[in-house]
Amino acid sequence: MDSTMQRTPLLISTLLRYGASAHGRSELITWTESGARRTSYREAGEQAAQLAHALRGVGITDDQRVGTFMWNNAEHVIAYLAVPSMGAVLHAINIRLFPEQMVYVTRHGGSEVVIVDNSLAEPFSKLLPALTGVRHVVVNGPVPDGLRDALAAPDHVEQVHDWDEFLRDQPTSFDWPAVDENDGCAMCYTSGTTGNPKGVVYSHRSNYLHALTSASMLSVGQADRLLIVVPLFHANAWGYPYAAMFTGSSLVLPDRFLQPEPLARMISELKVTGGAGVPTVWNGLLQHLQQTPTDVSSCRFLMVGGSAAPPAMLRTYQDRFGIEMIHGWGMTEMSPVGSLALAPGDVEPGTPEYWRYRSSQGRLLPGVEGRLIGPDGAQQPADGSSIGELEVRGPWITGSYYSNGSESETELADMASKFDGEWLRTGDVGALTDDSYLLLSDRSKDVIKSGGEWISSVDLENAIMGHPDVLEASVIGIPDDKWQERPLATVVLRDGATVMIDGLRDFLADKIARWQLPDKWAIIDEVPKTSVGKFDKKALRRSFADGALD
Ligand code: ADP
Repeated sequence: MDSTMQRTPLLISTLLRYGASAHGRSELITWTESGARRTSYREAGEQAAQLAHALRGVGITDDQRVGTFMWNNAEHVIAYLAVPSMGAVLHAINIRLFPEQMVYVTRHGGSEVVIVDNSLAEPFSKLLPALTGVRHVVVNGPVPDGLRDALAAPDHVEQVHDWDEFLRDQPTSFDWPAVDENDGCAMCYTSGTTGNPKGVVYSHRSNYLHALTSASMLSVGQADRLLIVVPLFHANAWGYPYAAMFTGSSLVLPDRFLQPEPLARMISELKVTGGAGVPTVWNGLLQHLQQTPTDVSSCRFLMVGGSAAPPAMLRTYQDRFGIEMIHGWGMTEMSPVGSLALAPGDVEPGTPEYWRYRSSQGRLLPGVEGRLIGPDGAQQPADGSSIGELEVRGPWITGSYYSNGSESETELADMASKFDGEWLRTGDVGALTDDSYLLLSDRSKDVIKSGGEWISSVDLENAIMGHPDVLEASVIGIPDDKWQERPLATVVLRDGATVMIDGLRDFLADKIARWQLPDKWAIIDEVPKTSVGKFDKKALRRSFADGALD
């Protein structure tokens, strides 16, 4: 039987129209050297229309790609809304990749226009000669002295524009086209820890459903002011620019001011109610708040994900500052949110059961299906203890990687190998409970294979980071003649710490099985981080390749 319902497509332009009118007074608040700069959603809607007209004027008439090379600021959110709404495809380029990777993803994605923050114009100008498909460069803010010529120099660049001039005199409304909801609207690349980064293309429908679902799970609304530290150039900005348009939450955008001190000021001065970022960002903020009393009483929750959040950090935020840290798990390939660690309503806060739920990777969002596949290829039961590689499927999960026809046979085979029929192989290893909570023990490439058993590097890290003298800990497997691999723990101590390695060993004694205890330890100054602030275990493995430590 056919339904009688209208087949209205789920489009980004619908969200934009709604946000700019129904929530016209909500704000994008960009942090600058001289304080907060405010853009109302009504103004953002008008500028989105102007940007779309200006882009049409330089030949973006169909589904061409428009790149961004930007921090989190109002103009970046406006591009996030305008480009998909006009039927084109937004590619937020990760500005922290290695130069050759930035060139690769920009060329592979095919951006013809790139919008660049003026504070990033200099590094971008160095890449531009290799970006032969880029015809126009739009600089957000005045073009820095001396850079206009460098930006205009490559033959393939037709014109360099200044954002204000580009938008000036353009109409403030746009007849957004009725594209197909399954058309591509934005693309993102994984940070490519092995080989070239891989791209995924989100659809209007997938972004719409993902934003709607994740925001409603987080219970955010128009009274919220959300500090978005997760870069808009990473993992689809966790859906916040789109979610904000229908929830009406204002967004606080830190631009390039990502240190703990300005983040703390943003929370206290702008009365931030919630936020989103990776564990290293919130850990840095926590150290700052513990040393420098700051009024963060407005803040209700902080969403944390991208890598495992240490339970000790979750508890300290809650106990000391009354801030609920919501642990989430996801992947670029999943738009990105797959699960959120909210405890079931009938579980008493503060109990061990409550913290078990809250420290897990979370309950799969409605719509996301997961299954575990064991080493022998057999599906494992969702009983909270059977371990396997997690495979997922659902309406905002990619079914393939983006190919532009330039990939080698080997790359195509590698891309295809990440799928098991219609299921995405996540590369994450762990267990699922019968009430859909995910307990990740590791990435399959980070799990330590010791004498035929697996040791979770994440469990060890969390246990070590539970010691009050430890700031960060990252554990890797190092080759071992007898056991194949054994754990090496690298530890960063807090200023003034007194604990020695023996003390850390003793501290773990009642928390970790004896055979899983690290054999080797190293006190280091800093754990190397990837382009998006995760522990860079590849770099650690390189540093400790000979395992010459005690
Ligand atoms: P990249 O590959 O560029 O790091 P993603 O940000 O998409 O890109 O990384 C996704 C991976 O990050 C997941 O497959 C998982 O290994 C890890 N991850 C994300 N959130 C969590 C979490 N809460 N706990 C543990 N691992 C996580």
